[in-house]
Amino acid sequence: MPEPTVIAGGLVVDGTGVSAAQADVWIADGRVTDVQPAADYHAGATVIDAQGLVVAPGFIDVHSHADNAPLLPEPDLTKLRQGVTTEVVGNCGFSLAPRLASRREQFAAFLQRLFPPARWEGERLSDLLAETDRRGYVTNYAPLVGHGTLRLMAMGMEAREPTATELREMGRLLRQALEEGAFGLSSGLIYPPGLFSRTDELIELAGHLSPHHLYTSHIRGEGAHLEESVAEAIRIGREAGCRVQISHHKAAGRPHWGKTRTTLAMLAEARARGVEVDQDVYPYTAASTMLAACLPPAFLDVPEPDVLRRLEDPDWRDRLRRALAEGVPGWENHVGDCGWDGILISSTASHQFEGRTLAEVAGDLGVEPLEALVRVLVRERLRASMVIFSMDEADVTRVLADPRTMVGSDGLPPGFGGRPHPRLFGTFPRVLARYVRELGLLSLEEAVRKMTWQPAQKFRIPERGRVAPGLIADLVAFDRDRIQDHCDYRDPGRPPDGIAWVMQAGQVALEQGRFLGERLGRRLEPASGGIGQE
Ligand SMILES: [Zn+2]
Repeated sequence: MPEPTVIAGGLVVDGTGVSAAQADVWIADGRVTDVQPAADYHAGATVIDAQGLVVAPGFIDVHSHADNAPLLPEPDLTKLRQGVTTEVVGNCGFSLAPRLASRREQFAAFLQRLFPPARWEGERLSDLLAETDRRGYVTNYAPLVGHGTLRLMAMGMEAREPTATELREMGRLLRQALEEGAFGLSSGLIYPPGLFSRTDELIELAGHLSPHHLYTSHIRGEGAHLEESVAEAIRIGREAGCRVQISHHKAAGRPHWGKTRTTLAMLAEARARGVEVDQDVYPYTAASTMLAACLPPAFLDVPEPDVLRRLEDPDWRDRLRRALAEGVPGWENHVGDCGWDGILISSTASHQFEGRTLAEVAGDLGVEPLEALVRVLVRERLRASMVIFSMDEADVTRVLADPRTMVGSDGLPPGFGGRPHPRLFGTFPRVLARYVRELGLLSLEEAVRKMTWQPAQKFRIPERGRVAPGLIADLVAFDRDRIQDHCDYRDPGRPPDGIAWVMQAGQVALEQGRFLGERLGRRLEPASGGIGQE
């Protein structure tokens, strides 16, 4: 028997929300074996002194886009440095698999808007996972399957309802991915091709989910259409009989600030009526997505080269001008809601334009802002992302404070470089620094619960999320007085301070910000029974 390890004298915040207590956490064979009142002497054990530190379960990022992280040559440390040990990927309707051979080129061109190129062979989720297993995981990997991906496989980018055959094909691919270990189905209803779907299609597909799966959604609108979009997600849960997660819940665009009062009440009421619906949030007032989301749906129902041709066509440009000025029913108009100076270019394929607002790019180029938007999209062949200053702090704090809200970074895929939204680097430390220590919005215990045991239960993350005997020793130790994110939108990449170490299955993976070199994460499959110690 190897010697046990004891993490001695830390302030243990166990993840369930109960009061923190100074304790010793005993670990053997990768699992917590005991949690005892802090002692002075630990016979026969390797001691890790944790006095002055908080010891908590490793954080669970319920909303990540780091599907490609295992396929990158360099380890992606953006989450581990925040104390995250598990990431749910495949969000917002985008998953790398399944990928049918017949759609391979079209899919690759489509994915370029969000992901750097990634190589793997085969078609099925199990083929992708064979490759990611081979490369290894920095954090635990919990994949969802994307509705947008399924739709593209069954019917391309077409702006219409699926035929019965196409809908059956989507269902078949979904069931196959679930059997191969997916945690559920995600949708992104502001993005093509998801935005072309009607509610019935989503109800039909969500009907394939088992009780241990869930449906997560970037809902159809987060501004002008926020309430009806929340209602749609609730309806999908009720009619499909599935569990629902509203992703990155927010009220976007000044005219819509304050609407989270209504939506949080709607969600509470739906729960009271038996729909298991919850939400997550990232702790920032700026959003981020691909720059092409500034274009109205009419531009986007064709392959990339045709989208680019439309952008260069004077008639289409007039259509764009009208759409941005007047809006389009059912479409989220980021430019209209936030203005040209409210959109900051964060990453582009060439790295030109990064860190400049569209208003500034227009000034730099000596053109009007609409022309600046078109030029960036064309030059970068749509491979560009943006930060959008769209939210009110009052909505962010209201959502975060709701007891049913979890934390998700929504960090965009690693590997592009550029200046991605600081949420990629600082989400979890920021909750603990700003909303616990500085503003007192949440207690330490409540904040940790939102990042650990609560998401473990909702997403059926097996044997993790809590410091308790029998569970896997994925743990983080941090200094509650020093933990700090760095939130600079124009220079976002600095890692957080105050995380002492991160442990995965009993082994330290990161110490004082330094990666010790081993990919200790694992691929997870959803727990169909209890998740341990419930
Ligand atoms: Zn999203």
